[in-house]
Amino acid sequence: MEPDVLVVGAGPTGLMLANQLVRRGVRTLIIDRHAGPSRETRALGVQARTLEIYAKLGIAGRALELGKRGTGANLWAQGRKTARVPLGEAGRNLTPYPFILILGQDDSERIMGDKLRDLGGSVAWNTELVGLAQEPGRVAARLRLPDGTEKDIHAAWVAGCDGARSSVRELSEIGFPGAPYEHVFFVADTEATGDMVPDEINVYVWREGFHLLFPMRGKDHWRVVGILPAALHHRDDVTFEDVIPSLRHEAGAGLSFKACSWFSTYRIHHRSAARFRDRRCFLLGDAAHIHSPVGAQGMNTGLQDAYNLAWKLALVVSGRADAALLESYEEERVPVARRLLNTTDRAFRLVVSDSRLAGLLRTKVLARVAAFAMSLERIQKFAFRTVSQIGINYRNGSLAKSLEGLADGAPRAGDRFPWLRLRFGTDGPVEDVFEKLDDTQFNLIVIGQPQPSGGLDLGGLLRIHVVPVDPVNHAALARAQIPEPSFYLVRPDGHVGLCGVRWDAAAVRRYVSESVHLAV
Ligand SMILES: Cc1cc2nc3c(=O)[nH]c(=O)nc-3n(C[C@H](O)[C@H](O)[C@H](O)COP(=O)(O)OP(=O)(O)OC[C@H]3O[C@@H](n4cnc5c(N)ncnc54)[C@H](O)[C@@H]3O)c2cc1C
Repeated sequence: MEPDVLVVGAGPTGLMLANQLVRRGVRTLIIDRHAGPSRETRALGVQARTLEIYAKLGIAGRALELGKRGTGANLWAQGRKTARVPLGEAGRNLTPYPFILILGQDDSERIMGDKLRDLGGSVAWNTELVGLAQEPGRVAARLRLPDGTEKDIHAAWVAGCDGARSSVRELSEIGFPGAPYEHVFFVADTEATGDMVPDEINVYVWREGFHLLFPMRGKDHWRVVGILPAALHHRDDVTFEDVIPSLRHEAGAGLSFKACSWFSTYRIHHRSAARFRDRRCFLLGDAAHIHSPVGAQGMNTGLQDAYNLAWKLALVVSGRADAALLESYEEERVPVARRLLNTTDRAFRLVVSDSRLAGLLRTKVLARVAAFAMSLERIQKFAFRTVSQIGINYRNGSLAKSLEGLADGAPRAGDRFPWLRLRFGTDGPVEDVFEKLDDTQFNLIVIGQPQPSGGLDLGGLLRIHVVPVDPVNHAALARAQIPEPSFYLVRPDGHVGLCGVRWDAAAVRRYVSESVHLAV
C-alpha cells in the first residue's frame, strides 16, 4: 500500500502529525532512522496550548499523571527573590490548564507513541529517508531499510519532521539560514536543596548569566539548565562537579547538590528554513525552525505546526478540499516561527550577554522591571498568553475573515476560540466548550440567535452548537468580550475561521468554498 502521507521522523512533531492524520483516516507511513524512541528528556515544558491539543487526542490525562504542574515562576537576582509570575492565577479562566506542565520529552513521545498504536498506526524504526524526487501528483522517496537495502516508495505528500538536520529540507534544497550562539549550555538532573520555591520554576539571573531550576517528579529533584563557565568551554570531559563551584559562587551556601543522575552539554543555533514547503514536501518542527530553549517553546511549536497541517492535509487527501488549502500552512506558521525566533533571540541575548552592562541590566534593571510588571494583572495575563501559546493567532492569513460589525476587543477570525463554560440548551448543563468542539470537523457556534435553517452541513463536516440567551452564558461571553448575538465558525484546529454578528448563511458558504477551498 502506498501511503497518502510519508512522515519522516518520529520525534514529537512527527508523532503528533501521524496521530492526527491516522485519526482522520489518512493512510500514513511514519519512519525514523533510529532503532527506537529517544530516551533523552530534552524539552521539559509542556505549554497549555499543547495540553489542550493533547486533550483532543485523549492523552492529556496521562500527561498530567506523569508530569508536575509548575504553577508559578520566580525570578531571583543577587540572592533575593524579586518577582513571581503566578501562572495559576494569570491563566485562570483562559485555559483548563493554567500552568506549565513539567514533563520530559521522552514521556511526551512515549504517550504519543502509545496513542498511535491504539489508533492502529506504528513507527517503522531503523528506516531512513535517503532520496526524494518530486513527480507529477506524487513524491518518490528512497528509504534505507533495517537490513541495509534500499527501496523506492511513492507518497502523495511528504512531511519532514526530521529535526534540525532535516534530510527532507536538504534534499529539497531549502536553505536554513541562521547561526550558532557562542555559548555552551549544560543540563543536569539533580537532587538539590536550597531556597528555591518548591514545585515552581526558579530563574536565577547573575552578573555572569543565568540558571534555571525546574521542579521534577520526586523529592528534591531539580533539572538545572545554565551556561557553562567560559573556562570550561573547550573541554570535552566536563562533569557536573566542574560546574558546581560556579553555581555555588552565585547562589551562596544555600544551594546544595546531593546527586546528579544525568549531565550533558550542548550548543544552540537559531535558524529558520527559507520556506516551509517545496511543492509536495513540507517542513515542520525543528526541521523548519530552531532557537534558544529560553521560554520552553521549541517542542510546543513543532506540535502546533503538526496540528495546523494535519486537518488541511486530511481534507485534501480525501478529495474534500482543493490543494490550494495547503498554502495556508506556510502563510500561518512561518510568521509564528519568525516571531518566536526574534523574541527568544532577544530574551536570550539579554540573559546570556557577557558584557558588564548586560550583567547590571539583568541583575538590577530587569529584576526591578519584572517585579513591577508582574504585579500588574494585565501584564501577567499577557505573559501567560504568550508563553502558553494560547495567544497565537492567524489573523493576517487568508483563512481569517471577520465580518463587519464586531465590537473592538471581541475575538476575531484567526484567534484561538476562547475557553468558556456555557449552557448549550435552555435548562441544559453548563459545559466546557473545548469538550464540545469536535476537532475532526468545523464547528459553528451560534450565539444568542436561533439555530440556522437551510441544511448547512458542509457535506457532514459541520457541527452546529447553539448558545441561547441565559445569565450564565451572558457572564461567560461578556468576560471573553463575545457579543450577543454573534456567530463563530471554528476550524478543526480550534482557530476561528469566520465570524460576524448576525448569522449569514451566504457568507459561510462563500467562506468555505473561496477561502477554505472545500468542495461543497
Ligand atoms: C537541552 C534541550 C532542552 C530543550 N528544552 C525545551 C523545552 O523545555 N520546551 C520545548 O518546547 N522545547 C525544548 N527543546 C527543543 C525540543 O527538544 C525540540 O524542539 C524538539 O525535539 C523538536 O522535535 P522534532 O520532532 O521537530 O525533532 P526531533 O526531536 O529532532 O526529531 C526528529 C526525528 O527525525 C529522525 N530523522 C532525522 N533524519 C531522518 C531521516 N533521514 N530518515 C528518518 N528519520 C530521520 C530522528 O531520528 C529524530 O527521531 C529543548 C532542546 C534541547 C536540546
